[in-house]
Amino acid sequence: MRFCTVINCMDGRVQIPVIDYLRRRFDVDSVDSVTEPGPNLILAEHRNHDLVESILRRVTMSIDNHFSVAVAIVGHFDCAGNPASREEQLGHLRDAVLMLRRRVELPIIALWVDERWRVIEIPVD
Ligand SMILES: [Zn+2]
Repeated sequence: MRFCTVINCMDGRVQIPVIDYLRRRFDVDSVDSVTEPGPNLILAEHRNHDLVESILRRVTMSIDNHFSVAVAIVGHFDCAGNPASREEQLGHLRDAVLMLRRRVELPIIALWVDERWRVIEIPVD
């Protein structure tokens, strides 16, 4: 059984599109989900240290126990946890990826889910 990991919003509308996308993207059977409201904002701001560490502990559990092959961070349209504009949220995704790269030694990708619940991978360099 092959796994990847997603740090996703808790919003029910994005779960299945993101899981379907990641199963194809990384050729995995299962996607371990760590969910919070607006996780791209939480990781980008790094204001709530305990919550950031809680997210990272759960990601590490997925990596250590399921040998996850990659990690994705998600932002989406109409997010209750991160009501910022699309452009601002793409900035949060970028900052979240840069933060995760310092802590996780796996490929990390950023995903945007649009108003039609389509999943778009956002390049970060
Ligand atoms: Zn959300």
